Amino acid sequence: MTRSEQLYAAAQKVMPGGVSSPVRAFKSVGGSPLYMTAGRGPWIRDADGRDYLDFCGSWGPLVLGHAHPEVKAAMQAVLENGWTFGTPVPGEVELAELLVHQIPVLEKVRFVSSGTEAVMSAVRLARAATGRDAVLKFSGCYHGHADYLLVEGGSGLVTLGNPSSAGVPQAFAALTMNCPLDDEEKLTALFAKEGERLACVLVEGVPANNGLLVQRKEWVHHLRALCDQYGVLLIFDEVLSGFRCPNIMAHEDYAVKPDLITLGKVVGGGMPVGAYGGRAELMDRIAPLGPVYQAGTLSGNPLAMAAGVATLKVLQTGGFKQLDALGKALDTRMQSVLDQSEKVGYVRYGALFWLYFHSAEVPRSAETIHADSAKSYAELFRFMLDCGIYLAPSAYEVAFLNTAQTEAHFDQFADALRAAIQKGILA
Ligand SMILES: *Cc1c(COP(=O)(O)O)cnc(C)c1O
Repeated sequence: MTRSEQLYAAAQKVMPGGVSSPVRAFKSVGGSPLYMTAGRGPWIRDADGRDYLDFCGSWGPLVLGHAHPEVKAAMQAVLENGWTFGTPVPGEVELAELLVHQIPVLEKVRFVSSGTEAVMSAVRLARAATGRDAVLKFSGCYHGHADYLLVEGGSGLVTLGNPSSAGVPQAFAALTMNCPLDDEEKLTALFAKEGERLACVLVEGVPANNGLLVQRKEWVHHLRALCDQYGVLLIFDEVLSGFRCPNIMAHEDYAVKPDLITLGKVVGGGMPVGAYGGRAELMDRIAPLGPVYQAGTLSGNPLAMAAGVATLKVLQTGGFKQLDALGKALDTRMQSVLDQSEKVGYVRYGALFWLYFHSAEVPRSAETIHADSAKSYAELFRFMLDCGIYLAPSAYEVAFLNTAQTEAHFDQFADALRAAIQKGILA
């Protein structure tokens, strides 16, 4: 038994499924999850001392790679002086200013401790501001695990074959409507019927929790126009897409102005941080200024704020440019590999990419992802792991670029993928 297998056996006795978050359990790719014990730059090391090139990046936050020296130094400086006071701290002002200066639609921002919390709170605010209850989301978009958002959710649910979650009251689910992505006609019809009931529409900046489903600009603008027509607030959930897009935020790429946005992942630099914000007139409805209650014991704590500030500063001073160049370098390598197989496709958006299977065209909606994808991906995943490459353990999860990667790492990735194709792994 490997050390990882021993740990997993022990974990299953004391933790449900042995894990703290479901997709970590390797259920859809088979085998025992790897226990990671160290990370440095683009590498992670498992409990048995094996190193892997990490394309999962803790599911998105680690845009600078592992243990980045500047982020580490910023956190160490905080640790010297205590790491939570339950009071306002200078770090949150600094992070808020960085965000407000960088993101035009963000006039004011509130910090929370996870992406789930950010989305829940933004929806509460939208409901308060509009006096309406219903929410529209899109199939294949994931917005965290709030009750009323676990309706046809993203990867975890699709992977585990659960259309929805137990324990969600029917009455809550009834407040959430679903629509496929990439379909103007269905959207128009839904608004015609239900538009007046909708408080808000939630959409992932770039849907990336059920494959990487890059949307057409026309569709996004159509959505904005319908929201305006029916007085519905548009919330861009940029928890995953934020700071990984060509223009930093996906809504900037689409040239669309959401009413509210949510952030997470990168904004905390690997610490638990979420944030939501938008127009001041909306944000000022939150307590203590307004009647919308939302609070958090560890919200805006100095350690997390320091990690976020340091990460965003590195991105601003060359990091974004580096990610852009890396993306292009990866495209070149992938092109030569993919010419050798009709089974596997590749799509990249900013610092995110995804391998899809058995489709002639890049999928743009959850419905167009081929049903055999999970099976093909599971085989590829095991093969890549043997080659020392760690991908997310689910066909529906994307891969993440980080600034610690170099072209040599992409060569390693491309060589492994080429070998998989030559061995018939993707047959
Ligand atoms: C990860 C994610 C969330 C949830 O964030 P947590 O920090 O895991 O609660 C919400 N929305 C999107 C788009 C995400 O990718």
